[in-house]
Amino acid sequence: MLVRWDKDEQGRWQMSEVPGSEASFKADLVLLAMGFVHPVHEGMLAELKEQKGLALDPRGNVQGATDGPAAYQTNIPGVFAAGDMRRGQSLVVWAIREGRQCARAVDEWLMGSTDLPR
Ligand SMILES: Cc1cc2nc3c(=O)[nH]c(=O)nc-3n(C[C@H](O)[C@H](O)[C@H](O)COP(=O)(O)OP(=O)(O)OC[C@H]3O[C@@H](n4cnc5c(N)ncnc54)[C@H](O)[C@@H]3O)c2cc1C
Repeated sequence: MLVRWDKDEQGRWQMSEVPGSEASFKADLVLLAMGFVHPVHEGMLAELKEQKGLALDPRGNVQGATDGPAAYQTNIPGVFAAGDMRRGQSLVVWAIREGRQCARAVDEWLMGSTDLPR
């Protein structure tokens, strides 16, 4: 089955299956190399989204800036997001960097100031 990507009315990329594109191939080993789209909207994330109005970006990730006075904060006071949840499927180095910076932002939010490195 082939898929195609088209932009919707909001300019977001949406994947759809191409009808009639199914095919069979003989194979000894199949490796799936499919990109990830966004965090799965279930469990706590679904609850926050549906009951508290958690804002998502156009790609379905949790919305939050990395800089400024509201760094790593979501639109819900006291709820912070970092790593894959905020930037989408990415790399460990980004998760570490965002985790450290987010910890600093949380400390500052709780204590009014922070000594943690950014
Ligand atoms: C198959 C695969 C291969 C990858 N290969 C590479 C690679 O080679 N190099 C690379 O740099 N990156 C790779 N990545 C990406 C990398 O793993 C991620 O970018 C990184 O782990 C993101 O870190 P994170 O802390 O943001 O999220 P995560 O590592 O996903 O951590 C989130 C944590 O939250 C926990 N959690 C979820 N819900 C709850 C809840 N309700 N309560 C409490 N805890 C909860 C989860 O159990 C998890 O431990 C790969 C990812 C995958 C899936």
